[in-house]
Amino acid sequence: MSHLPNSLEARDIAYQLHAYTDARRHEENGPLVIEKGEGIYVEDNTGKRYIEAMAGLWSVAVGFGEKRLVEAAARQMEKLPFYHTFSHKTHGPSVELAEKLVSIAPVPMSKVYFTNSGSEANDTALKLIWYRSNALGQPERKKVISRVRGYHGVTVATASLTGLPNNHRSFDLPIARILHTTSPHYRTMKKDGEDEATFAKRCAQDLEDLILAEGPETIAAFFAEPVMGAGGVIVPPEGYWKAVQPVLKKYGILFVADEVICGFGRTGEMFGTTTFNLQPDMITLSKAISSSYLPISALMVNETVYGPVADESHKIGVWGHGYTASGHPVAAAVALENIKIIEERNLVGHVKAISPLFQKRLKDLAASPLVIETRGIGLIGAAELAHGAYLDKPGALGALANAEFHARGLISRNMGDSMAFCPPLIITEAQINDLFDMAEAGIEAVSKTL
Ligand code: PLP
Repeated sequence: MSHLPNSLEARDIAYQLHAYTDARRHEENGPLVIEKGEGIYVEDNTGKRYIEAMAGLWSVAVGFGEKRLVEAAARQMEKLPFYHTFSHKTHGPSVELAEKLVSIAPVPMSKVYFTNSGSEANDTALKLIWYRSNALGQPERKKVISRVRGYHGVTVATASLTGLPNNHRSFDLPIARILHTTSPHYRTMKKDGEDEATFAKRCAQDLEDLILAEGPETIAAFFAEPVMGAGGVIVPPEGYWKAVQPVLKKYGILFVADEVICGFGRTGEMFGTTTFNLQPDMITLSKAISSSYLPISALMVNETVYGPVADESHKIGVWGHGYTASGHPVAAAVALENIKIIEERNLVGHVKAISPLFQKRLKDLAASPLVIETRGIGLIGAAELAHGAYLDKPGALGALANAEFHARGLISRNMGDSMAFCPPLIITEAQINDLFDMAEAGIEAVSKTL
């Protein structure tokens, strides 16, 4: 596709390397330029409007164009645009946000550490876990287990935790001491004759087998999303968490719940931890914490984690870790206002009320012979596509569906051949119907080309 010289598209191709993009293809096709957003919609630079069925990147909980967040940012910018939280310094917004997070935490939490992305929150969690093992005089306890198809970020360590091939291939990852256990995806991982309940128990057994094979005294922590997002929206089968958690407890393994997508209402509770009755020692948060209006993320730790870390920092004289923008006052002020909006408008109750329609319309997509499975909970879901002619081209059908959705004014995201839907929490019933009418028409259009 050719673009006018000096157009935004041409300059983007000239100057920008994009995340999760085939760079050579981008040089050919160029970008989609999004100019503005309002509610669940965004608009491109030709004036075309889209339903943003991914809430950006699973993140814009309160919708686009929320003036209260703009005003909260402006107020804080005027007052104190930046200050840090290193070496005993602090400021109002970071304290207030930390206090708020501890007060709404789904399980008792002691301290909050602020970071700027989901990756940084998980990376910090990992460093803290290693630091704690040393503090406890257990230097051999450094291995960490995550799951195949889990997603925890893209730093060297968190890309290693992520259990997806494209985050490892050609990066020489994963690094040592990071192990992956079975993905809780029943359809693809079940063995002959296993029903869901047996499969759930076997996942826990696989985890225990791995722990025993590696030596329980070498395993420090287990990282998991309550519902896997980027791995294809995988809701664990009934009984999975009930079987997995006792294994962690049995061997004294810390549990890090990565709530970067689930947190702040997505599953119909404020946290996925509540939805699935989890007992994590650490929780990572990002995305919907500020509706991604500004980058901010957080790691919450309980007293069991905090105590030894505090002691070790005292022994050494410092917890030698920190990002310049940790607890950034403007980002923290926006996050506080965002959480206030979620609470005032009872968006969690709203998700609970409208998610049956969302889940029904998602399930109905399976009426198309192209859809082999739908998965979801709350306001998150995916429809997986498959067709005999595309068996050896993973992702190709998903890309076709994306193009058809796009033509109709719907932005989804294909994770391979799974089409994800994760709209802003403010979506209405009528808008859910619009979204799935477009998705149905798009899938139908793809099937007509086959
Ligand atoms: N954890 C989960 C569950 C995520 O979905 C993501 C991003 O999608 C991350 C961590 C990484 O967050 P970030 O992209 O902000 O580094």
